[in-house]
Order: sequence, then C-alpha cells, then structure tokens
Amino acid sequence: MALLSSVINQIIQQEILTDDLSDDDLADFCQAANLAYRSGDPIISDQDYDFIYLPALKQRLPKHPLFESIEPEGQSFSEEKVLLPEPMLSTDKAYSWDEIRKWIERLEKSATDIGLAYVDIQIKATPKLDGFAGFDDGTRLYTRGDGKKGSDISRVFERGLQVYNDSERGQGAGEIVVKKSYFKSHLSNDFEYPRNFQASLIKEKALDQKAQQAIADKAALFVPFMQLPIWLGGIDTLSTQFEKIVTDILATVDFDVDGVVFEVTNKSLKTQMGANRKFHRWQIAFKENKDKAQVKVLSVTPQVGRTGKITPVAELEPTLLSGATIVRATGHHYGLVKEQGLGTGSIIELTRSGLVIPKINQVLKAAAVDIPEHCPSCGEKLQWESDFLMCVNHDICPAQVIGKMEYFFKILANNDGFGIATIEKLYEHGMRKISQIYALSVNDLSAMGFGEKTSVNLVNQLKRSSSEQIEDWRFLAAFGVVRMGLGNCENLLKSYPLNAIFGLDLEQISAINGFAELTAQMMVTGLSAIRPEFDLLNQYRFNLELTSLQKDLAELTHHLSGKKIIFTGKMSGSREEMKKQAKSIGIQVVSSVSAKTDYLVIGEKVGQNKIESAKKFGVEVLSEKNYLAMIE
Ligand SMILES: [Zn+2]
Repeated sequence: MALLSSVINQIIQQEILTDDLSDDDLADFCQAANLAYRSGDPIISDQDYDFIYLPALKQRLPKHPLFESIEPEGQSFSEEKVLLPEPMLSTDKAYSWDEIRKWIERLEKSATDIGLAYVDIQIKATPKLDGFAGFDDGTRLYTRGDGKKGSDISRVFERGLQVYNDSERGQGAGEIVVKKSYFKSHLSNDFEYPRNFQASLIKEKALDQKAQQAIADKAALFVPFMQLPIWLGGIDTLSTQFEKIVTDILATVDFDVDGVVFEVTNKSLKTQMGANRKFHRWQIAFKENKDKAQVKVLSVTPQVGRTGKITPVAELEPTLLSGATIVRATGHHYGLVKEQGLGTGSIIELTRSGLVIPKINQVLKAAAVDIPEHCPSCGEKLQWESDFLMCVNHDICPAQVIGKMEYFFKILANNDGFGIATIEKLYEHGMRKISQIYALSVNDLSAMGFGEKTSVNLVNQLKRSSSEQIEDWRFLAAFGVVRMGLGNCENLLKSYPLNAIFGLDLEQISAINGFAELTAQMMVTGLSAIRPEFDLLNQYRFNLELTSLQKDLAELTHHLSGKKIIFTGKMSGSREEMKKQAKSIGIQVVSSVSAKTDYLVIGEKVGQNKIESAKKFGVEVLSEKNYLAMIE
C-alpha cells in the first residue's frame, strides 16, 4: 500500500526517522522519492536520498528492485514504449576514493586476464550531467525508459532543441540539460531546480514561453556524451591526481553536474569486463560524499585574501565531521553574512566532503551581524563588489602583498622554506615582490635576522626551485591572477605558447574553448598587470616544461598524421622541440630505420651510410627545411 502523503511529509521533515519506519514503508518512501526525482520534481535532496534513505533500504532489503533495475524516469508518456536502438544502462556509483580504487583493482585483474599491460590501461573521465537522459539515433529521440524500451520524444527536436557544440544529430546517448548560468539568470524564479525545468521541455503539452526562449537561446540543449570534455590518462596519474582531476572535470561545463564518470577506453578490456543487468563494469561514476552538521557560531572575523577579498571566518563550537574536529569555517562572502545573518550565536549548516575543507552551506538560525568598514590589514575603507567586500588597496595592503608572495611558493610547490612565517619576516624587511626575494643572497638573509643555516637553506631552495623542471602552467598560475588558476592556465597554454600569451587580445582568449568573456577580460587585464614581474622573474631562468599545444581539427587531419619519422643529425633548433611538434600533429617519431619507416629527416653532419641504408629500405630522405615546409 502506498504511503499517505501526510506520512511522506513527516518523513521529509524528519519528524519520522528511518528507524521508525517498517521495511515496506521505507521502501515505499524511497520509491516515491525516486519517482519524484525522475519526474523532475524532487521531494528530498539528492544527498538525503543517496546517503540517508537508500543506504538504510539497502541494509534492510538488499534485493529490493531499486537496486536491481534501471531507474525509470517516472515521467509518463501516452506513447507506446519502443525498443531502443541500443540498451542504455545506469552507471555504477562510488562515493569515495576507496571505492574507485577497488574498481581500479578489478580493472587491473581483468587486464591481467587478457594480457593487457598495466601501463596500457587508459581511463577517460567526463562530467556526469544531471539532466534528462535520452538516445538520439539521428531520426528519433528516445527516453531511457527501463533501459531497453523508451518513449519517443522526438518532438523536443521538432521544438527547435539544438545539439551541444552545434554538432549533428545521431550521436547516440546523451542528456537534455539547461545551462547553469542561464538557469540562474532566467529561470530560477520560476523553477526550483534545473531538473524541474528540464522535465518541462519534453512534456507532451505545448511549451511555455520561457522554455521556448531557452531553446532559442541555445541554453537548453541535448548534450551527446561523446561531446563532453574529457580527461584521459593512465592509472598512475588517476591515483596521484584524483582530487585535481575531479575538481577540474567538474568545472569544465556550464551544466549541473553531479559527479564524474570514469571509464576504460581499451576495447578489449571493455569486452572482457562486460556488464551486468544494471550497469557496465568498465564504467563508474564518482559522486562526492558529504557529511552535514548543525553548528553554533562563536564569532565571525574578517580575513583579507591575496586578491583583496574579505572573507568572513566563523569560529565554531568544535564539531566532529568526516572524522575531524572542525573549529573554524569560512563563509563564502560578506553578502552571505548580511543576507543570511551569519553572526555570533547563529546556527549554520556545515558540510564536508572527504578531506576537503568544510563549507558553510546555509545559515539555519540568523543572528546580529558585524560588517567591517575598514580593512583589518591596512585600514583602507572597504568597498562592495556585488556580494564581495573588497580592499582595493591591492599594491600596498600588507595582507594582500604577503598573500601573493605566499601563494607563489605554494603553487610552485617545490620548496618548503617559504611558508607564511618566512614570508612575513621577509615582508618586515621590505620584500614586496617575488623577484626581490629571488635576488637575495645568504648575507642579505642573515642581515634580516635569519640564522646562518636557514639563510643558506633558503638560498638553496630558491636556486632549486628555478632549476628543477616545472610545468609552465604551474609557473604562470603562481602569479595569482584572478581566474588564472592551474586549470585555466593549462587550458590557455594548450592553445598558445607561453611566450605568446602577453600579446593576446580579448577576442583570442575568449575564442579558447571553456573561457567565458568575463574570464577572458580578467585574464587580459591580469596578464598585463603581471608582465613586468614576469619578465623580472624570467631572468632567473626557470626550467619550464612547455605544454604541448592541443590538436585542433586541422592538425588531426594533417597529411603526415600516422606517418613514421626519424630525426637524425644536428637540427637548426632543438630536436626535442621538433619531436614534440611532430607528435602533436600525429606523427609517430621512431628511433630506428625499418621498412615501415616513412621519412628520415636529416640535419647537419649525417653520415652518408645512414642515408644510404634508409634509402635501401625505401625510406624517403628529407632535409630539415623540406620537412618543415611539409608540415606547414
Ligand atoms: Zn587592505
């Protein structure tokens, strides 16, 4: 028997706890919640569903159909169900690195079974869209239905819905989604969640004006999974950079995303692992596990960041969350303090996922607030910039100057002597810029009061930090330009080499995939601001590993793509650079001549017998100049 809606309400309000529910009632509630979610009108949050109700049900009724079958959409259509061109399965889920690690162990085992080397296992990560799943065979669009049979909802395309990236129809599975920024600016007053709106796009009755407009604005879209930005890498990189990969992937699209999908790309391994009734074993979705608590605020103090942003820091009644005692948390900005009443004595909802720093989600009980008028570091009168309270005294404000210097060494991440204590001491002795610090000698440091050993150590660390190889995007990010974090810097340097970025204009930067115009504008301004310091620091000859430029379509179809080439002899430039460039257009650089080699590219001082033996194999010999002309 279905639950009464009054009972459902009491469960939602947590007046009835899961412990008090019978197995059947709990199952009914989960099904009701799932159905409501699928139909675009959720009654509880995803978190509550995933972490409170579903685990409780799993413990009691592990064989419940909710764990066995593909979740239906809930939305009912009058059309008869039709067989999908390909079955659409759900995705298995993991909520911790530990579970991902276990999945990797299963990959490794299957790889061993088919003799695939560990280093050859390739993994792809894509954002997991939180939209409405569909399958587009080029003529019709189907809902996922039960995974085998779905409903024909081709009318959405007839209503003008476009495919993401202006790409073509017929790219298979994907999701109907709405852009996050658009939802916030155009739809959030009318719809509680993007999901409610997404569901309204496919319903049978005629679209309302908002939905038509969103389609016309290309804010509502069908996104085929194969159009999603991807991360590709091996198991080792995934293991060592898991958190960064997840954070980066989550930030790649302007859609609601509720996790990251990891999957194997090796065909043989996919075949070997196969699928069960519900999901493919070679694929898993990572969703962040969040712990929540209600916490009392003891006081709120302003803190000045390196960009001049004043952050409210709440001192909290010590609270255990995800295995750590939390005594402090930062509010997002003073807008939240003002709007929600974050002050001494207020009660907040605090969340923490994994080992990440805790976050104030919302203020549950407001209190009187204290908005600072002057910068606690330099005394400058503070200014509001939308929700943010700012100290605009950027070049003088001690907190900002110290923050920027500390940030540089933190991002460089190849030294441990330049923590906040050292930086503060250097500041006391007149250091205001990184380039000044790199100019210091042991004597200079001793004169500032650093011990003899420490001074030597610090100078050695400075030397090492410039001689040790670091990625160029890391070096660039260390300058701390707003909107130029590690991810954006890497993205930028995939499109333009480091020595070209200072000459870029707004149009060129905003043409790079992933950069909004506002971001591009801030990057242009930021780059010109750091230019003098960048040039000064460059004198210390940092050992930069240059990012290889991304293949664009023209390069992918380069006529030399797939050819096997050998470079030999002294080239006019760096041979390593030549190899890198060749690889970037799809050329296979090999090291010994065989009948399979296509070209031998020769520089100066190449022995005649080397050339002769290549010719014997039928290999074409090219001078450096001819080769360069060919790849133009
Ligand atoms: Zn200040």
